[in-house]
Amino acid sequence: MSEQSVITPAADAKPNTRKVFVKTYGCQMNVYDSERMTDALSKDGYQATDVLEDADLVLLNTCHIREKAAEKVYSELGRLREMKKARAKDGREMVIGVTGCVAQAEGKEILRRAPAVDLVVGPQTYHRLPEMVARVARAAGTVVETDFPVEAKFDHLPEAAAPQGITAFLTVQEGCDKFCSFCVVPYTRGAEFSRPAAAVIAEAKRLAAQGAREITLLGQNVNAYHGEGPDGAVWGLGRLLRALAEIPDLARLRYTTSHPRDVDDALVAAHRDLPQLMPFLHLPVQSGSDRMLRAMNRGHGAAEYRRLADRLRAARPDLALSSDFIVGHPGETAEDHRASLDLIRAVGFAQAFSFKYSPRPGTPAAGAPGQVAEAEKEARLAELQALLREQQDGFNRSRLGMEFPVLFTGPGRHPGQIAGRSPWLQPVHVQDAPAALIGRVAPVRVLAAHPNSLSAALADPRAAAPGSPYHSPHHEPDANPEEEERARA
Ligand code: SAM
Ligand code: SF4
Repeated sequence: MSEQSVITPAADAKPNTRKVFVKTYGCQMNVYDSERMTDALSKDGYQATDVLEDADLVLLNTCHIREKAAEKVYSELGRLREMKKARAKDGREMVIGVTGCVAQAEGKEILRRAPAVDLVVGPQTYHRLPEMVARVARAAGTVVETDFPVEAKFDHLPEAAAPQGITAFLTVQEGCDKFCSFCVVPYTRGAEFSRPAAAVIAEAKRLAAQGAREITLLGQNVNAYHGEGPDGAVWGLGRLLRALAEIPDLARLRYTTSHPRDVDDALVAAHRDLPQLMPFLHLPVQSGSDRMLRAMNRGHGAAEYRRLADRLRAARPDLALSSDFIVGHPGETAEDHRASLDLIRAVGFAQAFSFKYSPRPGTPAAGAPGQVAEAEKEARLAELQALLREQQDGFNRSRLGMEFPVLFTGPGRHPGQIAGRSPWLQPVHVQDAPAALIGRVAPVRVLAAHPNSLSAALADPRAAAPGSPYHSPHHEPDANPEEEERARA
């Protein structure tokens, strides 16, 4: 097992002389998993590298959600095969592994299509990765591991070795039992599983101690979270967020991705009560047509989604919504498509992702009648994206002249500039601001709105002054401008 590593470095090998390069595709959960894999391998002497040419072990952590995402992996594998051949001529080895959802879904088929691959590992067995890499090295054979083992990988993966930074991801839930007609996730990630609340809180405290000021809780269906609480009761996401909001140095909390069906009263109340919970929610709806929502097995109608948006906004008036849309699901008519445009106009989104339906082998929709022609999908996507773009521009422009707190995360692209995120996740750039504000929250005033970002100036001159309390990790300015306003009154 991974925690009792069986890799024995060769007699002449020095610790940390082998290098691993991980390329991550797809969602933030894969980003989190890639970091945990690197941590697990570092115990066995592998050092992470950003330089592919230096790597002894190359891992592609893959995404299977749409055909394009999966095919990208095969073209990358083609390039790696050439590199591996060239290396072999120089007497150097290169181990290639495929991890993630393509590994889970395609298993041995990957070895058939890409024989240069040595290792195929599904997302539930990353904790066994060091052992599998060692097996490949010993036997010079191939390893395919796509089990859903009974032990939870989280119990076996090591704690984060390297600090994740000012903004960190934390997986609290995995898998999905919803079986939407179009989606591979229930097949690649398995049944829903929630980590115990105590483990999540401990990891959040560790991240905060390492300098994280914002944590985004992750799950394929994050608000289906139902973890065991330290009190023995089952905790939902609302309860978990309340506990995390008590960690002193965490200025901001977010979570993604949520399902409309799993938004309960406790979660709405968390949005009302917790200033740390940012007023931005990614809440995918997929379609505005009741007929399509039924065909997709989403378990709610368009009117319910609109009522839910109203409830959330009543709880947190500055809440902005983001969503995912699929156009051209089998059976979608022009009328269904118009219903999606109507819902977008009625709800109003600050940001959204939209996709052409992509048939995924093994899912119910892939074999369903009424597949929509590619040209029709393209036309519908263009129309939907034009409307969403208009709304995003409008939302960004609506911030002009506004003052709100920004969490600064790093230097900007230009000298003297620093960059951060607004409460609504918009990138914000501030010119002539001290680097001492990086990792801190300070109020800004928006000077210009761009399609994907905002330019701003510091709203409080004290934030620029040397030795300012804003530069201290424990200074907690207005996480919520309304709270601050109330306190001043
Ligand atoms: N659990 C989330 C939910 O229920 O909305 C979604 C997670 S999924 C990884 C991310 C997005 O990919 C989905 O919201 C959907 O819009 C899109 N997606 C999933 N399967 C797709 C498919 N077969 N074709 C096109 N888009 C797809
Ligand atoms: Fe996929 Fe999300 Fe539906 Fe689960 S709820 S099947 S992850 S789209």
